[in-house]
Amino acid sequence: MNVPILYCKKRNARRYILRVDAEGIIRVTIPRGGSLDYAKAFADKQAGWVELQLKKLQERTESHGSEKEILFRGEMVPLVIEPPNCVCFANQKIQMVEGADLRSRVKERLRWLAQAELPEKVMELALQHGLQVKRVSVRDQRSRWGSCSSKGVISLNYRLVQVPEFVRDYVIVHELMHLRQMNHSERFWKLVHEAFPRVDEARGWLRQHTRALGHF
Ligand SMILES: [Zn+2]
Repeated sequence: MNVPILYCKKRNARRYILRVDAEGIIRVTIPRGGSLDYAKAFADKQAGWVELQLKKLQERTESHGSEKEILFRGEMVPLVIEPPNCVCFANQKIQMVEGADLRSRVKERLRWLAQAELPEKVMELALQHGLQVKRVSVRDQRSRWGSCSSKGVISLNYRLVQVPEFVRDYVIVHELMHLRQMNHSERFWKLVHEAFPRVDEARGWLRQHTRALGHF
């Protein structure tokens, strides 16, 4: 077959299984004691069926565009399958294991990056503005980019690794300024504008792109 296929070993699988998921990713599960060679032959035998599934999927998703893309650091980048068992985007390489689905693996990676990058960035910007943050928590928030508690805890959406850096910095500075002003009063916005000149540009970007983020 001419399409890339992911091969995943699964200890509790009892037979070879070939699947085409909603994103058009073709995956062969290799059972315990199975081999990659056998799995490849197994997939080849079902090439006709796979092509049919991909065609059906294409007809169904034509109006929605390709889902094999991801917004990362402000740009749409392709999710590329690298046989036998990796999925890559930008400089990230994700190994597919134990039948985990693509979406949750990508999400896991984004969260991991966010945990590694965001708290450090908050501390750096806090220092620049002479502010003290008690703790930074990276969370999976559906509808907000960040929040700031009266106790000085800043919570950030892990999806901030998907937005351009200046937008991420705006969200962080916005939350930091709540340490001075716990509301959205005129005085608060004045502080934000003084601390971060590209406020309007960043807010405009967020308004335009929030839908593309929702996928992961
Ligand atoms: Zn706010």
